[in-house]
Amino acid sequence: MSTISAPEEQKILETVPKQLYIDGEWRDGSKGTFSVEDPATGETLVDVADASEDDAKAALDAAAAAGPEWAAYPPRERGEILRRAFETIIKHEDELALLMTLEMGKPLKESKAEVAYGAEFLRWFSEQAVRIEGRYATSPNGQGRLLTMQQPVGPCLLITPWNFPLAMGTRKVGPAIAAGCTMVVKPAQLTPLSMLMLAKILEDSGLPKGVLNLVTATSSGETMGPLIADPRLRKLSFTGSTEVGKKLMAQASDNLLRLSMELGGNAPFIVFDDADIDSAVQGAVIAKMRNIGEACTAANRFHVAGSVADEFAEKLAGKLGAMKVGRGTDDGVEVGPLIDDNQRSKVSELVEDAVGRGAKALVGGHARDGAGYFYDPTVLTDVPDDARLLSEEIFGPVAPVKGFADEDEAIAAANDTEFGLVAYVFTSDLKRALRVCEKLETGMVGLNQGMVSNAAAPFGGIKQSGFGREGGPEGIEEYLETKYVAVNL
Ligand code: NAP
Repeated sequence: MSTISAPEEQKILETVPKQLYIDGEWRDGSKGTFSVEDPATGETLVDVADASEDDAKAALDAAAAAGPEWAAYPPRERGEILRRAFETIIKHEDELALLMTLEMGKPLKESKAEVAYGAEFLRWFSEQAVRIEGRYATSPNGQGRLLTMQQPVGPCLLITPWNFPLAMGTRKVGPAIAAGCTMVVKPAQLTPLSMLMLAKILEDSGLPKGVLNLVTATSSGETMGPLIADPRLRKLSFTGSTEVGKKLMAQASDNLLRLSMELGGNAPFIVFDDADIDSAVQGAVIAKMRNIGEACTAANRFHVAGSVADEFAEKLAGKLGAMKVGRGTDDGVEVGPLIDDNQRSKVSELVEDAVGRGAKALVGGHARDGAGYFYDPTVLTDVPDDARLLSEEIFGPVAPVKGFADEDEAIAAANDTEFGLVAYVFTSDLKRALRVCEKLETGMVGLNQGMVSNAAAPFGGIKQSGFGREGGPEGIEEYLETKYVAVNL
């Protein structure tokens, strides 16, 4: 049963813009349209514009033309635009959450949380816009002065993934607007609707034409390649897979673009024997099941002290087994569908590989029959070291649990990956907590909590999870260049 009626769904789908947004105008794509699907039913929701190479170039033309005026725009006014957009999103959070659930599948409650989280980046950076500062210092030899100023990087290309359809965009758009950069935004083709709505909200909030241009496309490589090669572009900020990130980084090297790379993860979740097991299980449910496991921050493997591993696995299996699976608009649903058949097949393949090598499913282990791309929440024990899901990003509701003997073994296992986005640590021993946090090779750590996302904090990874930070005071620095003036005085 759903509390959302079909006409309500229809209304939000009618309201969302379906064209390209270039130079302050909504226009058709030169390649026609493509369909956006509801992953809970496999049915088409709406068709949106499919951009050609020329459309993408027109978007960069607009961003380049608007650049100088926008860079000189009063910072307070840039901030006020962001603030107004924040207020509008919060005012319409129910409709925006519904739109997100329709295109991405996650339960309404989680979509609402993402709408609030996504909006928070606009509020945070509205406050940062007026805090872009420089320095004035006396040269150490007393002769002359050192003056520094921070200036916008210039036209940016912002490419986002499907898993957080709004927040992955606002994390980039917010600081770019605050810093005085213009931009071309390309959302994922699987979930472009929330970003189309954001462009409309920013337009209605007074964003001048050409500052933000949005292009939806089926051929991302063909449309984005020429922009990356265009000497007018100054920065590429990408959130997505490590595989695509590496390709884009190679392309960006020709023009030595400024880069931010928010890439894949393989988060370890470590539980020591001195942890409060119930709160660790609660944290594990969040770290694993938020976004149906389709998060770069999702706990990918659970390393649990041998003496409490069975208790932890059984309690986790109890929680995951009790979660209601279904369409995200239905009452009480806690686990929506995976994004598409490819993603579900990949999850099935990883579980079959682990079970084939000797792992046991305490709960779940299967895809669901029928419409949509549902997969049962799964807990695996006795997972052998060579199981692929320990080294590959699962991106689904599957929790492999492994025991460890001591702290050194736990840290070694946690760091045994080329990724380095986030790790989770549960312990009641403060010295151990800090010791372990220092040794973990990740950009972020959740200490006794299963979530790290916060607009006021620097989000980002190391190793093959990328570089650059989004959110916090660091977030706007990605969109600023420092200029130094040597003053003869
Ligand atoms: P993806 O396949 O790498 O796609 C990401 C974006 O890049 C999409 O907009 C995609 O467009 C576009 N793209 C793909 N190939 C391209 C090319 N050759 N040139 C230009 N653009 C191209 O990733 P995804 O499947 O959408 O997202 C899941 C991945 O994102 C996971 O690995 C996850 O860990 C990572 N992620 C990381 C973070 C973080 O902050 N570190 C946050 C969220 C997600 P199309 O839609 O047209 O393919």
